[in-house]
Amino acid sequence: MNQLQHIAIIGASAAGVAAAGAMRRGGFDGTITLHDGGRHLPYERPPLSKSAVSRGLKEIQSATSYAELEIELLLGQRAVALTTDREVIFDSAPTIRPDRVLLATGVSARRLPVSGAELHNVLYLRDAGDAEALSAELHRGGPLVLVGGGFIGLEIAAVARTLGIDVTVVETQERPLFNVVGPEVGGLITALHHDRGVRIITGREVTAMRGSKAVEEVVLSDGRVLPAATVVVGVGVVPNDQLVRTHGVKLSGGVVVDAHGQTDDPWIWAAGDVAVRRHRHLRRVGRIEHWDTAQRHGATVGSSMVGDLQEDTAVPYVWSDQYELSYQAFGRGEPTDQVVLRDGAQPDEFLAFSLSEGRVHAVAGINRPRDVRAGRSLVESGATVSAEALRDPATNLRRLPVLGGATK
Ligand SMILES: Cc1cc2nc3c(=O)[nH]c(=O)nc-3n(C[C@H](O)[C@H](O)[C@H](O)COP(=O)(O)OP(=O)(O)OC[C@H]3O[C@@H](n4cnc5c(N)ncnc54)[C@H](O)[C@@H]3O)c2cc1C
Repeated sequence: MNQLQHIAIIGASAAGVAAAGAMRRGGFDGTITLHDGGRHLPYERPPLSKSAVSRGLKEIQSATSYAELEIELLLGQRAVALTTDREVIFDSAPTIRPDRVLLATGVSARRLPVSGAELHNVLYLRDAGDAEALSAELHRGGPLVLVGGGFIGLEIAAVARTLGIDVTVVETQERPLFNVVGPEVGGLITALHHDRGVRIITGREVTAMRGSKAVEEVVLSDGRVLPAATVVVGVGVVPNDQLVRTHGVKLSGGVVVDAHGQTDDPWIWAAGDVAVRRHRHLRRVGRIEHWDTAQRHGATVGSSMVGDLQEDTAVPYVWSDQYELSYQAFGRGEPTDQVVLRDGAQPDEFLAFSLSEGRVHAVAGINRPRDVRAGRSLVESGATVSAEALRDPATNLRRLPVLGGATK
């Protein structure tokens, strides 16, 4: 590692900041430059969709901590190219020639390709600027139409309903979150929002938006027209992998990396949402879009880049706050899994397990934090357990009889 003098990190958010800290704490004493196209001190993204009241941005760490760790935080520097001469070119900063580069560039909101999508008041939510614009619109009132019933859309629905705004969610699948949590859990969360007065239209697409300057109407595939003062589009994300698209690095819906975060070009590494990887507790290679996981991955890749090879093996964790409730999940289910709901499930309190061949691959719940944490151990162990026992509210998950050997 002695030859490493300068590591550049592109993207200063969950993954990039964690990587920089891990490099320094791991004993790397060369130059670490942390570049971001944004101008805010790195902040947490999850709070952006959970409140319409601006309480200021929650910084990931204090401004002084970067200086203390001798991390050069360079804001307002957007990288525009990585050259084959191992240079990083920026839009408004001098070109650098680091010994290694980490892509921690995250993802961007997928744009909705329909006419009228460019109208004023058609918003997306990824960063601080988006959150500010949304907050201003919500305080002017509704109706609000949310295109896409994913976690971010539903969190915004909850915030808007709390402000008394008329909210409609338009979702192409048969249920919100269908692809993420399956029909059973999706059904419970749908009911939660119905109960709070959210109108949910499923199995329909938005085909156009109309208005003179600002959006006024949303047109659906069945011809229905919804009035709208604001539209928020949450139809998924695309990886920010533009820097390496022409570089020859392997891409597959993101930047493909090995267990330590290295791409097939030893100069380039990737971490966080942009990285496509195999994970010990997931059955499919892919990207993971969770805050905690991006931080853990960033830290392990950062350590690996300075010679201490590490792998992120923690069961992926995600949460989503809706109304006064918190949804939490460890692991990831697949569409072919058997979903076992603990008896007595209600929209505002439930526990669900995704099983395949008797093994728990994911646990999710609302208002059951201890059980969800206990469920994580089941995902970790890979032991075979009984669906009946999981279904029974009397079963103590920490003492669940194991039917078969652990496989992990
Ligand atoms: C509104 C919202 C709510 C969320 N809520 C939750 C939640 O409740 N729970 C949860 O687990 N996860 C949540 N997430 C997901 C979580 O925030 C992400 O998984 C996490 O931010 C990923 O971190 P990252 O560092 O990989 O990328 P990002 O946070 O996307 O950061 C990438 C950074 O790279 C910078 N960048 C990109 N391209 C360039 C370039 N060319 N040059 C310089 N800089 C560049 C960007 O400016 C950005 O700062 C939420 C996300 C959003 C947007």
